[in-house]
Amino acid sequence: MRELLARLGLSDLNAGAWAGAPVGGPDDGTLVSLNPTDNSVLGQVQLATRAQYDAVASEAARAFREWRMVPAPKRGEIVRQMGDALRANKDDLGALVSLEVGKIRSEGLGEVQESIDIADFSVGLSRQLYGLSLHSERPQHRMMEQWHPLGPVGVITAFNFPNAVWAWNAMLAAVCGDTVIWKPSLKAPLTAIATHRVCEAVLAKHGWSGVFGLVIGKDAEVGEAMLRDERLPLISATGSTRMGRRVGAVVSERFGRTLLELGGNNAIIVEPDADLSLAVRGITFGAVGTAGQRCTTTRRLFVHERISSELLPRLVAAWKQCRIGDPLAEGTLVGPLIDADAVRSFEQAVATAISQGGEVLAGGKRVDRPGNYVEPTLIRAHAGMAICKEETFAPILYVVEYRSLEEAIHLQNDVPQGLSSSIFTDSFRSAETFLSAAGSDCGIANVNIGTSGAEIGGAFGGEKETGGGRESGSDAWKAYMRRQTNTMNWGRDLPLAQGITFDV
Ligand code: NAD
Repeated sequence: MRELLARLGLSDLNAGAWAGAPVGGPDDGTLVSLNPTDNSVLGQVQLATRAQYDAVASEAARAFREWRMVPAPKRGEIVRQMGDALRANKDDLGALVSLEVGKIRSEGLGEVQESIDIADFSVGLSRQLYGLSLHSERPQHRMMEQWHPLGPVGVITAFNFPNAVWAWNAMLAAVCGDTVIWKPSLKAPLTAIATHRVCEAVLAKHGWSGVFGLVIGKDAEVGEAMLRDERLPLISATGSTRMGRRVGAVVSERFGRTLLELGGNNAIIVEPDADLSLAVRGITFGAVGTAGQRCTTTRRLFVHERISSELLPRLVAAWKQCRIGDPLAEGTLVGPLIDADAVRSFEQAVATAISQGGEVLAGGKRVDRPGNYVEPTLIRAHAGMAICKEETFAPILYVVEYRSLEEAIHLQNDVPQGLSSSIFTDSFRSAETFLSAAGSDCGIANVNIGTSGAEIGGAFGGEKETGGGRESGSDAWKAYMRRQTNTMNWGRDLPLAQGITFDV
C-alpha cells in the first residue's frame, strides 16, 4: 500500500500543495481517509480553508480568461494527453479506488476506464461543438447559434465514483473551454488528489496550471462558499437528493445553473416470457455489484406472479454465491460499505422493512469481521411498504410480485426518484410499452440488461428527485457552454423583424 501511495505522489499529503492553493495557510483541521475493509488509516489530508478556496477560485477565473480563447481542438489535444496519462496510471488509480472506497478490483479499474473513455469522447467532441445556421425572415440577413465557453465550473462529487464522476464533468468542461474547481467527497480525498495530480501534470507541461483546481474542504465552509460564488456560473453536483435540494436552492437564488445527479431507486421488471438466466445475472450484478453503492443499483424487483416461484430460488442461490471479502482479493464480488454509518443505515433499513411486513429471503445481517461488510440482502416485499420508496445505499433488493405489465410500470414509477430502470422480456410489445411515453419515467430505461453499468456515449441522468441533469455523452456538453444567437445583416437596408417600420 505504501508503495502504491508513493507512486501516486501521495506521500506528502500534509504539504497542502494538492489544493493548488498557497501552501502553509492556516491549518483548520485534518481529514483522515479510512480503508473500509478494516477502518485503518490510509492517509491524512489537510483541509482547505475558505481563504484557500478563494485562491483556487481566483486562479480558475484567471485561467478561464485565457483557456476560453484556445481553439477547441487544441484543448482537445491536451485532454487527449490527459486520457493517456490516466491510461498509464490506470492500475494504480484503480487500486486506490478499491482501497479507499472498497470497490472490487475490476470495478476500480472499470471506473478509471470510464474516465479514459470520456477523455477519448471529449477529444472527438472538441471538433464538433456545433451550432445551428438558420434562415432569417429578413433579406440579406443570416442567423446562427454558436456555443461559447461558460466559465469556471464547480464540480461536487459523491464518494462512490471518486474518479469517474469528476472526469465526466472535467473532460467535457475542458474541451468546452471552461476551467474546473473540484470539491470531492471527504470520504475519498486520496483518489481525488491522485487523479488531480495525474491530469495536472499534463496541464502544467503545457503551461495550463489553473485549468483544473482541487479543494478538499468542509461542506459548511468550502462547499457553501462554492455554491454562493458568483464566479461559478455552473455547479455540477453528484450526490444525495438531500444535498441536491440544498445546492439547487442556493445556486438558483443567484441565478446560477446547476447540473444535478442525485439519488436513484432503480427497478427491474421481469415479465413471464423473460430469459431467466439473463435476468438472474442482470439482477444480481445490479443489486449486489459495488455492494449496492451505485446510484444505478437495482433496489426494487417486480416479478410477474407466474414466474416468481422459479425466479426467487435462483436469486437466493445467486445471492449466496457472491463471495464477500477484501475487494483487492481474487474472486471477491462484494466489498465493504464505505463506513460504519452506512452499515447502520443498512441495519436500520432491514429492520424497518421487516416491521413493515417484509420477509428476508437471503442475507440481512452485517458480516462478523472487521470493516464495514454486510450481506447482500433479498427481501420479499409488498407494494405498500414505505421503505421501498427510499434509497438505502447498500445491497438490499426488495422483491414485489405483480399481475400485469401496466401494474408493474405503475409501481416502478411510483417513487420520488427517476434514474434507471429495466425490463427483462422476449416480447417486442412489452419492451416497446416499457420504452413508450406511458412506460418508464426514468432517465435511463433498458431492455434485457440491468439498471447499472451505463456507457459514456449516452447522456446519463434521471428525472424527478434524481435532479434532471444529464452528463457524459450525447449532447450533455451543452450544459457546459452558453448559447448565443447571432443575426448578421450583410445588406444596405435595416428591415425590422415582424414587418415593423420605424423610419427616422
Ligand atoms: P452526499 O450527498 O453525502 O455527498 C455528495 C457530495 O456533496 C460530497 O462531496 C459532499 O461533501 C457534498 N455536499 C454535501 N452538502 C453540501 C453542501 N451544502 N455544499 C456543497 N457540497 C455539499 O452523497 P454521497 O454519500 O457521497 O453519495 C451517495 C449519493 O450520491 C447517493 O444518493 C447516490 O445515489 C448519489 N449518486 C448519484 C449519482 C448520479 O449520477 N445520479 C452518481 C453517484 C452517486
